Amino acid sequence: MSTPTFSNYINGEWIESAKTFEDRNPANTDEIVGLFCKGTAKDVEDAAAAAEAAFPAWSAMPAPARGAILFKAAEILEKQFDLLGAEMTREEGKTLPEAKGEVRRAINIFRYFAGEGSRLPGHLVPSERDRVHMFAIRKPIGVVGLITPWNFPIAIPAWKMAPALVCGNTVIVKPASVSPLCCWRLVEALHEAGIPKGVINFVAGSGGELGQALVNAKPVKAISFTGSNEIGNWLHAEGSKRHLRLQLEMGGKNPTIVLNDADFNSAVENVVNAAFFSTGQKCTATSRAIVEDGIYDRFLEALVERTKKLKVGDGMKPGVDIGPCVDKGQLETVLKYIEIGRKEAGEPLCGGHRLDKGEYAKGYFVEPTVFANVTECMTIAREEIFGPVLAVMRAKDFADAMRIANDVPFGLSASIQTSNVSRVFDFVYKMEAGLLTVNLPSAGVEYQLPFGGTKESSFGPKEQGPAALDFYSDYKTIYLKY
Ligand code: NAP
Repeated sequence: MSTPTFSNYINGEWIESAKTFEDRNPANTDEIVGLFCKGTAKDVEDAAAAAEAAFPAWSAMPAPARGAILFKAAEILEKQFDLLGAEMTREEGKTLPEAKGEVRRAINIFRYFAGEGSRLPGHLVPSERDRVHMFAIRKPIGVVGLITPWNFPIAIPAWKMAPALVCGNTVIVKPASVSPLCCWRLVEALHEAGIPKGVINFVAGSGGELGQALVNAKPVKAISFTGSNEIGNWLHAEGSKRHLRLQLEMGGKNPTIVLNDADFNSAVENVVNAAFFSTGQKCTATSRAIVEDGIYDRFLEALVERTKKLKVGDGMKPGVDIGPCVDKGQLETVLKYIEIGRKEAGEPLCGGHRLDKGEYAKGYFVEPTVFANVTECMTIAREEIFGPVLAVMRAKDFADAMRIANDVPFGLSASIQTSNVSRVFDFVYKMEAGLLTVNLPSAGVEYQLPFGGTKESSFGPKEQGPAALDFYSDYKTIYLKY
């Protein structure tokens, strides 16, 4: 079977280009999942012009009618459910059940925001003045650029596209180059659902070239980005020069605090789940387990024993818990941090090696790795690794655990494992993170509530839930004497 080629989508047309790039399976690098047309700065300019031309009619369409197109796209995605899950595992590497869970979430996100089309809540309040009617309505911003990462290749494009579109904006989406197919499928579904030409545009290709082109494109009024701090900070500096509205979701160094009174077995499961599932490549993954002194040794022993039982392999195979790193670059980053960890904290208690023999020979596999006795100043306690590497740290008591947990520049997610309600509330009010979990893994969010971090993890309004509308719309306030 020949390798399929996936075109860019500009002004309602599938646009081919002379140059392509490969989307390869990280579990078997012999397999090319697809070839993608390599977009250029000119493609972004064309997409911006098409989106600008489409904006007046799309923004004037009643919001429930825009929502109806999203509902229809969700139906189309539903019919492709199994295909989409398998394609995600093949291009990103996460296990098939994880991939299917993410596809389900993307479909639900489309439906949730489709429903928002019938609400688009504004404000209606009583005036202090006689016979004055005052209210505020939401208006779209215009053309928005979306730049998405590889780790949630369908959910993140969905949670940016759906609120952007339902608010009446027109969109240019630039997916991550290592996993563009899932995002392409969303655009294909919108096309099949009958979205008017120019309303959604898809340009794949080099982040550097297309990112600069998006920042430069005059019709683009806002950019929503999820990815690394390095690129997010660059976008902030560049985009601010022309007052672009920006939403940046970036890295994390998320803690799970385990207290002496935690439900022991579920605390072990929650930490293993949050640290290693999806190969630790979740922005909300736990990379620091901060364990109270009284149970530190027993917890560490159980954690290592459980981690050793995890099965690494091709995510398409039943029984596999952990797939590969997404690409060679990510594998090298993980191996580099494991070496740094060895120098700083000594030999890991489990893992610590690349797997490259037998069934692993053609993929970017690495063992789930646990470092013990990690202290705050160590690199592996401070920098994001984005792989299956866990630093276990000892805390004297709850106050010490909170101090350690907050002592990083990031603030994305955080978790606590305890049965003490007072500790839970202290954690809720004092933990510096945008997303908290209690007696659950630090990762695993739903779409109905705001999502995003604090400190250096995020910039701008939150994503998802009702809050998502705030980035993609402006208020217009009206005072009316009758
Ligand atoms: P990345 O390297 O920053 O890439 C993210 C996106 O930006 C990709 O589409 C990339 O394109 C594009 N890009 C690259 N250079 C660019 C430039 N100069 N201008 C504009 N766009 C550019 O991040 P990643 O490695 O894909 O993702 C991992 C990171 O994302 C981690 O730090 C993780 O914590 C973070 N993340 C955060 C959240 C959150 O909600 N806070 C969620 C998921 C992931 P190419 O692929 O073509 O390079």
